[in-house]
Amino acid sequence: MALSYRRWVYQNVLREEPGPILSESILQRIWFESLFQNPLTTLQGELVTLHHPGLWNHRPGPDFLRASFSTPDGRTHAGDVEIHRHSSDWEAHGHGSDPAYRQVILHVFWQADPSLTETPPTSIRQIALTHQLAAPLTELISLFRATPAEIAGGEKAGLCHTSLLSLQPEKLREILEEAGSHRLRQRRALATARTSAHGLDQAVWIALAEGLGFSENREPFTSLARAVPVQLLSRMPDPTCRASLLYGVAGLLPDPTTRSVSPRAQPILKELWNHWWKARHSWTDRILPPTLWKMGSTRPNNSPFRRIAALATLSDPHTWPELVDSVHRAQSARFLEILKSASHPFWDHHAGWDGRLLPSRSRLIGLDRAHALLFQVLAPFADCDELTLHNTIATWPTGGDAGLIRSACLRLFGLPFAPAELRSHLAREGLLQIYKDFCRSKADACQSCSMPDFLKQRNRPPEARSPTPATLSPQSAHNLPNPVNRSATTHPALPKTPPETSPFLKVVPARPPPLARRRNPHPPGR
Ligand code: SF4
Repeated sequence: MALSYRRWVYQNVLREEPGPILSESILQRIWFESLFQNPLTTLQGELVTLHHPGLWNHRPGPDFLRASFSTPDGRTHAGDVEIHRHSSDWEAHGHGSDPAYRQVILHVFWQADPSLTETPPTSIRQIALTHQLAAPLTELISLFRATPAEIAGGEKAGLCHTSLLSLQPEKLREILEEAGSHRLRQRRALATARTSAHGLDQAVWIALAEGLGFSENREPFTSLARAVPVQLLSRMPDPTCRASLLYGVAGLLPDPTTRSVSPRAQPILKELWNHWWKARHSWTDRILPPTLWKMGSTRPNNSPFRRIAALATLSDPHTWPELVDSVHRAQSARFLEILKSASHPFWDHHAGWDGRLLPSRSRLIGLDRAHALLFQVLAPFADCDELTLHNTIATWPTGGDAGLIRSACLRLFGLPFAPAELRSHLAREGLLQIYKDFCRSKADACQSCSMPDFLKQRNRPPEARSPTPATLSPQSAHNLPNPVNRSATTHPALPKTPPETSPFLKVVPARPPPLARRRNPHPPGR
């Protein structure tokens, strides 16, 4: 294959990104995921053990609220965290005199400026993440460079949809599956980083919660999974205990004395509150604000209440080790059986505490979601080589055409569904990857997209293909030609191999720690 999807993305999409490659938002995501060594070392050489990275604050003020860590003297500290690219950004942004930043206890940045290292503020601990990441920075930049996609209200056919549909079906399938392989490698890289940072069980738990959150509630579900570690839940045989902790920390346990709840929900709530009112004082700093959850845009079957019930069921002390084992051994049938078995007498019929009824009895995790979780949870953590995994994935059933896949089909094919010959699991994931990499990379993405050139190249017989790809459109060349030389106005010819390191990494002198499937000696739980 002359031009692989991976190579094309690295050469074009990454290069076209406006702004610095290592942005604050990427550093925030790394902090949110806690993808670094724990304990962390401050600029003064003190070891701090992080217990909770804090709640991601998307409003004005510090980036993370109510984080907690402990110091070697045994003291626990709680407060806010501010993230920057450089240590000098604290003063440059005027935080020193801003009252909103008075609760900041950690200032985290990629690099320390020598001037600040000489006179560090005493009240705020300073941490440079250089040399302390759990995975290579290039990998993390590649994984997090785009903001999490949110399902758009509507979608229309994009510029290349006729070119895509005019390709031979086998050629189109080849491109999509190539993009699917790229997506799979990205997910496995993230899984490896998470396993290295948090241990296998917790990494699978986070991926499962993230997958159950869909794009709308991915972030609150990830926060919930971090705040309530599965190592703790899977030691609780009482399902009500597990559920009370999850609903309580999620901030989704209503007070029936002040909120209207269904009479059918009353006895369940009473039991949950019996546990939660005793436990809640020790979880105060981790309780998520209810405003974090997006309720309006989710279908009743996918309501966060039902998904949390699924997490409470799957974290059962007998079920959880079975689930992790099925993931590790890539046993898809067993994995699906466990997901399908998740059930609850109230939540199988209801969408919320107000007693909204579902049209019919419904599994806590429907078939479509279970099939999607094969790729989101099982494939990234399966302990087998890539070829075996590809052969296994080829046998997996595909899901339906709802949600993001529908939007991708509308944009890339002008149809609300994928053509029948493209319905392989890997092709479907590839479709989502192209949609994320190209169509949703920016507003008016079609105007400067290199995909039409890519398709022209791929549609030629191998002997007629250009040794270098077609020149990008003038608009895209003008946007950001080359992160190495920002004054250049045209893209240089592609090198023979894709650049696997970011130019930004020239500032990284040391190699990050090796990744291994080891358990974190300092799990972030209680
Ligand atoms: S953004 Fe690119 S890949 Fe997406 S529809 Fe437009 S031309 Fe095609």
